[in-house]
Amino acid sequence: MDSCIFCNIAAGLSPARILYQDAQVIAFHDIRPLAPVHLLVAPRQHIESLNQAGPQDEALLGHMLLVARQLAQQEGIAQSGYRLVINTGSDGGQTIFHLHLHILGGKRIAYPLRDL
Ligand code: 5GP
Ligand code: ZN
Repeated sequence: MDSCIFCNIAAGLSPARILYQDAQVIAFHDIRPLAPVHLLVAPRQHIESLNQAGPQDEALLGHMLLVARQLAQQEGIAQSGYRLVINTGSDGGQTIFHLHLHILGGKRIAYPLRDL
């Protein structure tokens, strides 16, 4: 997907502060952090959202969680705690239509969420 920013980051065509990458996923700092630690984990493959993921992506989705866990440890928020978020579709607040997992931590993350 030429026009997809996360595809371009994964391909090395757009800059990002990359923390981790392997054959399946890439992880980088969010450009507009909402918490002291705000990272994104995205598959290299263009999957629009969780709605477009299927049984063939089961291992990939599990891998994204384990990479998130590893990064939380690496960034020093594993003990204090963190929130993983996958915004999906319009009501979910998704703005980039390339599947990604947010890792938020380094402060108490509000929950329940406030109405918009
Ligand atoms: P969504 O709202 O789709 O769940 O999250 C998209 C996230 O991507 C937002 O937190 C936004 O700040 C981040 N983002 C958007 N464009 C870029 C970019 O070009 N680079 C990086 N690193 N993050 C981005
Ligand atoms: Zn993409």
